[in-house]
Amino acid sequence: MEPATQAWWFAAGRLLGTVVIGCGAGWLLGNVWGGLACALALHLAWVLANLFRLEWWLRHRSYADPPDVGGVWGEIIAQIVRLHRRKRFHKQRFVQLMRQLQRSTAALPNGVVILNAQREIVWFNRMAARLLNLRRTADLGMRIEHLMREPEFVRYLGAGDYSNPVVIRTASGEDCYLSMQVAPYGDGQLLLLVSDVSRQMRLEAVRRDFVANASHELRSPLTVISGYLETLAQDSAVDADLQGPIAEMRRQAERMTAIIRDLLELSRLEESDELVGGEPIDIGALMAALRKDVLARPVHPRELRVRVDSAAQLNGDEPEIHSAFSNLVENAAKYTPAEGALEMRWWVDEDGGHFCVTDTGMGIPPEHIPRLTERFYRVDAGRSRSTGGSGLGLAIVKHVLQRHGATLEVQSALGSGSTFTCHFPAERILLARPHSAATA
Ligand code: ADP
Repeated sequence: MEPATQAWWFAAGRLLGTVVIGCGAGWLLGNVWGGLACALALHLAWVLANLFRLEWWLRHRSYADPPDVGGVWGEIIAQIVRLHRRKRFHKQRFVQLMRQLQRSTAALPNGVVILNAQREIVWFNRMAARLLNLRRTADLGMRIEHLMREPEFVRYLGAGDYSNPVVIRTASGEDCYLSMQVAPYGDGQLLLLVSDVSRQMRLEAVRRDFVANASHELRSPLTVISGYLETLAQDSAVDADLQGPIAEMRRQAERMTAIIRDLLELSRLEESDELVGGEPIDIGALMAALRKDVLARPVHPRELRVRVDSAAQLNGDEPEIHSAFSNLVENAAKYTPAEGALEMRWWVDEDGGHFCVTDTGMGIPPEHIPRLTERFYRVDAGRSRSTGGSGLGLAIVKHVLQRHGATLEVQSALGSGSTFTCHFPAERILLARPHSAATA
């Protein structure tokens, strides 16, 4: 039999004994009921005394030993002691775990901030306090936007797309940059990870400056070389055998000039990631100018179509948009044989404005498409060298589109042509009366 069951049997026996003794004593004294009542009253007093000891011990259990009683009361006390020990053990483990967690997050080289669904600060580690200038008690419970007012961060937090981090320049210093990324978890809570990327940003700036300065320095000597080569090419006194090499040198000098021009443009575009404002651009007029440029090429696709399906204007930076569209059109003309076709199209729908360039040229194998906009990336060196490409055209297009909040979509199949489409957001489109389609 289990000790608890045994104790209950013992308690029942004790009660029965009390009743029997009470009745027996009462019978001897001539009052059975009186004897029984006295015995039960004594039993009740004993129970109350035990209850009092138990209650007193529960109140003072942190320093008092448990009362030494047997039977059911002893069993109850033993169970309470066991429960208490188990609770203390779990509490100690929990406190230990919390301390370890606190120490490990404090040692993290990154800042961590926990925000609730209302974006109020619930907790942050030491690094977050240092990077974001948070005060341990005063800033707990404050909304993060009230403490971090940088517009890029507020926009990032509101947009709800946390797949990429946002880099902000802090108010504390000119050269202090923080990368912030939000990871949602639980029921609307957010984990904000902060890291100091000032060093990377400085290195990136040094790299950009170097490319810009080197390109700038190379431009002047190249202009001189190109000038002399042009003079030599026109000089009838130059040996006929040298005409070929001189023509080749001129071609290469032109290529270098194009690379330097594109490098300088790319450096300028990379200077800032901020969205550009700009003025309304008449895309129809721009496409007509681009068409003229294609026709001016010594070799160009025979079929050249321009479809302006909307008279809506695009709000942007005219020279930048011109450069991006011209790169796409030039590529289509470059990589399409004379018997092929080239089409430019501008249309507007509820998603925004779209400019696409379609050609029936050599096309691009699918594995190259994701990397096309990288600097100096070429599908194969031969095809672009023969066309005099700098390898920077699509990198320029990508940057210009980024600065206009737009995206580039590339569809292509080897041997059957390519379509490059620029998708502009609806807020950049200035709607006007619908324009009838023009074909040239
Ligand atoms: P490039 O100055 O060499 O043309 P780009 O950055 O403009 O450099 O283009 C990158 C590469 O993408 C090119 O080298 C070329 O191989 C490929 N490419 C771009 N546009 C087209 C196109 N319309 N048809 C085929 N290939 C293309």
